[in-house]
Amino acid sequence: MHRWIRGTALVCALLATGATTGCGAESRADARPAASSATSSASSSVRHSQPSRDDRRDARAAVEAAYRTWGLKPLAAPPAPPAVKPVKLRADGGQVPVISEIPTQEKIVFLTFDDGAEKDPEFVTMMRELKVPFTMFLTDAAIRADYGYFKKLQALGNGVQNHTLTHPDLRTLGASAQRQEICGQQTRLKDEYGTAPRLLRPPYGNWNEDTRAAAASCGLEAIVLWRESMQIKNMQYQSPTGKLHPGDIILAHFRGPSELKGTTITEMTANLLRHIQEQGFTVAALEDYL
Ligand SMILES: [Zn+2]
Repeated sequence: MHRWIRGTALVCALLATGATTGCGAESRADARPAASSATSSASSSVRHSQPSRDDRRDARAAVEAAYRTWGLKPLAAPPAPPAVKPVKLRADGGQVPVISEIPTQEKIVFLTFDDGAEKDPEFVTMMRELKVPFTMFLTDAAIRADYGYFKKLQALGNGVQNHTLTHPDLRTLGASAQRQEICGQQTRLKDEYGTAPRLLRPPYGNWNEDTRAAAASCGLEAIVLWRESMQIKNMQYQSPTGKLHPGDIILAHFRGPSELKGTTITEMTANLLRHIQEQGFTVAALEDYL
């Protein structure tokens, strides 16, 4: 289990003392279908349906009630996804871009959960109720005991992306071994989850030019790193301001009490959402911007 723990210290930056802003209470139903809806298990296709204004108000009220149940204030509604994605991905024959943030002026951040060791059913319930979008970067060695767990999260509309077969430090491997790790997981994830990932997160954030070449040859379109890293209670900020910035990609992990000093993944996620809400940000779906 511990092989998947990132080497960063758990001692981290203090919670930013940035201004707490009230959150707008506009409907997010445009972006996410209602939990109570019979169609809630579908993802992007449902997003484009047009619920009535009453339906949207009911859905929003249900989400706000769910936030309170989890001891949280609701996040603001995210803006509509951009018509043109702001990050240029690899074109045929081109290099794979390496990104840590999304260029935007909006007060939005992007959540990513890595590895897949912890498989707490309560986390599925939480994310179904709160309708917070996130991206999963999955390692086969961590998920192979229960692929089905992540299908439930995928069915909520969340993306499944590539985090290698066995979580090596890719910089220690030669080109062909890197290709094996990346293409192997690409095939595995496509077999299990139906679509081939477009995004690669190299374990530990370590990559080199062989990684870029391997990613391209495996059909991936971008290498995605991160700006901020969620610990147990606090966020570890890269910027000395100790605050979130528009477009930040946030790293979190599928970790449970044995790795979080007794804290559950839902408690950790509640802490994460609280930091985001307190700084007046909300969460958007990474795949809508990449
Ligand atoms: Zn990892």
